Amino acid sequence: MNRKITCVMCPVGCRITVEMNGDEPVISGNRCTRGRQYVIDELIKPKRVLTTSVKVEDGDLPLVSVKTSGPIEKKIIMDKMKEIKKKTVGAPVKIGEIIIENIDGNGVDLLATRKVKKIHK
Ligand code: SF4
Repeated sequence: MNRKITCVMCPVGCRITVEMNGDEPVISGNRCTRGRQYVIDELIKPKRVLTTSVKVEDGDLPLVSVKTSGPIEKKIIMDKMKEIKKKTVGAPVKIGEIIIENIDGNGVDLLATRKVKKIHK
């Protein structure tokens, strides 16, 4: 196996090559150790930051954009999207407000990324 992975840990974006020597990955092209760890995580337990939106009640917008406070395991993203789809928050919503605490069970929260004002009926 010979695989190329772009490291997303910093703006440099090193193109890292992974070759398998038996069970040992041989990693090259990374300028720092964070790249090595990123590639190992990507091969074993890939993670992504989840961005989507959540329904808002009594807001000047019907939805608020949200994202996870850090990457979560890729394999749980579809289940978390179903959970988020069922969620409704009441306005007002502040930027950075926790919408779902500890969404991944490992300390990553789902946060609002914009403000929604309350409308008075
Ligand atoms: S390997 Fe290091 S320098 Fe290269 S993109 Fe990743 S974090 Fe940045």
